[in-house]
Amino acid sequence: MLREIKKYTERLGWWQAAAVMRDFTTIKIGGRVKLFFPRGLEELTKTISLFNKEGLKYRILGNGSNLLVSDRGIKDIIIKLKGADFEYIRKEKNNLVAVGSGLSLQKLLRFCQEESLGGLEFLVGVPATLGGAIKNNAGALGKEIMDFVTSLTVLKKSGKLVKLESKHVRYSYRYLQLKKSDIIVGAVLRLRKTRRKYIRKRLDFNRAYRRRTQEIRFASAGCVFANPSLSLPAGLLIEAAGLKGFRKNKAAVSCRHANFIVNLGGASFKDVFYLIKYIEKNIRDTFGITLKREIEIWS
Ligand SMILES: Cc1cc2nc3c(=O)[nH]c(=O)nc-3n(C[C@H](O)[C@H](O)[C@H](O)COP(=O)(O)OP(=O)(O)OC[C@H]3O[C@@H](n4cnc5c(N)ncnc54)[C@H](O)[C@@H]3O)c2cc1C
Repeated sequence: MLREIKKYTERLGWWQAAAVMRDFTTIKIGGRVKLFFPRGLEELTKTISLFNKEGLKYRILGNGSNLLVSDRGIKDIIIKLKGADFEYIRKEKNNLVAVGSGLSLQKLLRFCQEESLGGLEFLVGVPATLGGAIKNNAGALGKEIMDFVTSLTVLKKSGKLVKLESKHVRYSYRYLQLKKSDIIVGAVLRLRKTRRKYIRKRLDFNRAYRRRTQEIRFASAGCVFANPSLSLPAGLLIEAAGLKGFRKNKAAVSCRHANFIVNLGGASFKDVFYLIKYIEKNIRDTFGITLKREIEIWS
């Protein structure tokens, strides 16, 4: 069946042969997958209709910066949004910016700086695509991306493109209410006219703060657990439990930021998963608190 689909979909996009998720995740872990790159929006729509018609399961990959994927890979087809239809960026009237969901946040920040549009500097150093950042309502320093999104364009399972005003979409800390099958293809963000030198200052300050406080020397998937509350960061609990530096083979709880699990080189899915379970049990036993995972596990 898949061979026929592959043949048919060749005009809609291209398959990356022998793709392994460790090449597409920031923690550098994950096995073989069927990876598909649609050529454009029209091709994506046709692809989705075809996959749904054939009952084929698929997932959307952003920059893989919040994922832990099994070393055995996963059966679902992985769709990656790249190219002009998904990585566009356009300045519009009234400080609005229209952005494709495949664009990296760092490219978006560079564009904003050049156009003297401020507001998103808190996202400096977040290695995400716009689509992944919106899906997770990424945030830092008390701000979150959905505060700036005015509308989203979503491709529904039916093949219909729908524009959703953000005021009609529910979101909260690291959460956006969308159906699992919904694909964000683009968004419009409202920014503030800001002098370029102030944007640069804030970017430099936030970048330096991140370098001081977060783990950037080793591969990771960012924070593993959501903070139980604003005043109670998960990292502080893990540090208080004495788990900084705790290791399982080549995976370790970061010594710099206890809410990061790092790949010291050659860590496996099992190593990281062991640490996640170990931390969860330890925090439950020590403080009576059940940690909620922020990292997403694909297995
Ligand atoms: C060093 C480091 C620092 C980090 N710092 C922060 C931080 O400060 N704040 C923060 O919030 N996060 C942070 N993260 C975590 C991560 O960057 C965010 O969770 C980010 O939102 C994930 O985006 P992504 O593009 O990598 O998505 P992925 O990890 O590829 O995917 C995440 C989820 O989004 C879905 N998705 C992706 N694209 C789309 C789309 N177009 N339509 C629908 N669904 C989609 C995927 O299917 C998946 O469910 C950090 C990670 C690292 C490695």
